[in-house]
Amino acid sequence: MKKIMFHLMGSAALILGALLIFAQCKSEASEMAQFEALTTISGDRGLADGELKDLCLCLTRQFPYETLSDKERKALLFMREEEKLARDVYTFLQAKWNARVFSNIAKAEQRHMDAILCLIKKYGLTDPVGGNPAGVFQNNNLQALYTALTADGLQNLPAALTVGARIEDLDLFDLNQATPDIDNEDILAVFDELKKGSRNHIRAFVQNLEAQNSSYTPVYISADLFQNIIHTPRERGGSVCTATCPNANTPNCQGKGPNGAGNCGGNGPNGNGNGPNGAGNCGGNGPNGNGNGPNGNGNGNPNGNGN
Ligand code: MN
Ligand code: MN
Repeated sequence: MKKIMFHLMGSAALILGALLIFAQCKSEASEMAQFEALTTISGDRGLADGELKDLCLCLTRQFPYETLSDKERKALLFMREEEKLARDVYTFLQAKWNARVFSNIAKAEQRHMDAILCLIKKYGLTDPVGGNPAGVFQNNNLQALYTALTADGLQNLPAALTVGARIEDLDLFDLNQATPDIDNEDILAVFDELKKGSRNHIRAFVQNLEAQNSSYTPVYISADLFQNIIHTPRERGGSVCTATCPNANTPNCQGKGPNGAGNCGGNGPNGNGNGPNGAGNCGGNGPNGNGNGPNGNGNGNPNGNGN
């Protein structure tokens, strides 16, 4: 029975992985810190305090609207439902076993669903979840997984915790598979947070399994990656909108993100300090000028030196 289920999941993972995917999470506490960190953004981002609490506004306004590739579109739509799979299965298992780990992580999965919905709306896509109730999915593979995983999780608490670990295993695998085909800054930022979340959730489920004198063997991610995850500490979030730079190593982004604002310094081939739409003062050296990017405000010009 278990082998059949694993096989089913493996097949689904291959199919889904080809489309794209992802998932996320981390501990409840660090996730809250991560998303609530939005409230700490200073006014130089052009958002009022109340608006800063809104991740959608951050993802919509603080990240550029970039062309959406077919793979990016499929990844968003698939991951929206895969996060729902996690949320719905954990909610189901919480009702059966009353284990706090399920209720805590289910709340995190709801936030992951919300973050992806923001991007679905930003890019004008049709939400595959819509008004679907718990346990109902548009994607047939996810529907089959829900049926198999909830059945397996009814056996006993270790089986339920194993289902949790396996969902996170699958989520992280799918996210990692999808990432190389994604270049939109907002999607990468959300997926990075979802990966952190899934790594933290794997840690949480494995710790709970160990407390039950049980263990978990990864099905999707490599044994090496799994060992690395469970032997490293819980990760903190907080980088979607508060990071100094979504992609710190990209040539056009030094110090601040693509739409960042503020002061900075550093070197980069296309300017320093601010991203293409940044504002503020900068210093540093670069072949195409210092200071502000092409649409920046403040000092400097695209081909000269600023202050
Ligand atoms: Mn998640
Ligand atoms: Mn998760």
